[in-house]
Amino acid sequence: MSEIYFDHAATTPIRPEVFDAMLPFLKEGYGNPSSIYEIARTSKKALERARDQVATALGAQPGEIFFTGSGTEADNWAIRGVAELLKPKGNHIITTAIEHHAVLHTCEYLAKNGYEITYLPVDDQGIISLEDLEKAIRPETILITVMAANNEIGTLQPIEEIGRIAKERKILFHTDAVQAVGHIPINVSKMGIDLLSLSAHKLYGPKGVGVLYCKKGVALKSFIHGGGQERGRRAGTENVAGIVALGTAIELAVSELEEEAARLSVLRNKVIDGILEQIPHTRLNGHKTLRLPNNANVSFSFIEGESLLLLLDMKGIFASSGSACTSGSLDPSHVLLAIGLPHETAHGSLRITLGRSSTDEQIEYFLKELPAIVTRLRDMSPLYEDFLKRRA
Ligand SMILES: *Cc1c(COP(=O)(O)O)cnc(C)c1O
Repeated sequence: MSEIYFDHAATTPIRPEVFDAMLPFLKEGYGNPSSIYEIARTSKKALERARDQVATALGAQPGEIFFTGSGTEADNWAIRGVAELLKPKGNHIITTAIEHHAVLHTCEYLAKNGYEITYLPVDDQGIISLEDLEKAIRPETILITVMAANNEIGTLQPIEEIGRIAKERKILFHTDAVQAVGHIPINVSKMGIDLLSLSAHKLYGPKGVGVLYCKKGVALKSFIHGGGQERGRRAGTENVAGIVALGTAIELAVSELEEEAARLSVLRNKVIDGILEQIPHTRLNGHKTLRLPNNANVSFSFIEGESLLLLLDMKGIFASSGSACTSGSLDPSHVLLAIGLPHETAHGSLRITLGRSSTDEQIEYFLKELPAIVTRLRDMSPLYEDFLKRRA
């Protein structure tokens, strides 16, 4: 069997339609959208068409869409922008313990610069409590930032309810929707979202292009200073090919969303049930149903996730343990610790994230190979030996 890519939460391949759409802007369509001659006007038009496509996909207006260089940049911009602008009003930000580092590290930076941050805990399924949120709100609270879908365990937060609470209390609401857009329905006006981040490479677009949605009437500080691009808010000559690709990718993802989500959730459940039924001392991480249609995350007691990944790699199966950004470090994932896993169990986690290329045959092959790999690793594990001795 050829390579099996089960790491769509880390990144997705560019789909052919997207590649075709962006290619002309890497070749003959190289005009700078800020210039005035014909090839420049073509670039400008393509840029604005992509803005319309993104706006439509989110239920927003084109004027509310700002292109960025990544999802990370959009998170930084949203949070630091609001924090700096609303400093006279307050210095308190509410977020969660399970955010992506793009949000967490931005909050840590602000905490060193006079802001106060509340990290809401999550329950053992990875979901925040709305009661905790309400209790955390203070007169100085200027921003609530809660991710729509978690990149490690796939859990979905009650975004619409959070949006309603934020609106009632007149607090701005930002959501990191990088894992959500194109995978589950997102509508900024229905969900009461003031600011939203997304990234092209998580929805079959290229790396290095993202979006910050900022609701009309919400003041947005300029984040990168220079020329007048993005209506003076984000300077730098636009990544036209990347932006065109993002527009095409998001339009396709949203048009196929319902069908693809239904297909993937069947496959995801097959992965989860197949693992839990075949392999003892295993648990599912995240919520059983309130999770991304493509995400399965399980922990195996007595083994190291990293070793598991290497053995899977040798079988041509590419997966992840924790998130790509944290693997390589020995700290267990902050997300798995936040849902209450002990350190050892957090280390033995496996994240399978499916996508357009995933098939039933791939999952059967994976489920056929996995038990022997786990057994092999447990046979080498001193922890497992102790466990067997204690039980005997
Ligand atoms: C991937 C990811 C990001 C970062 O997006 P980049 O475009 O890779 O910078 C932020 N948040 C979440 C939830 C992600 O999964």
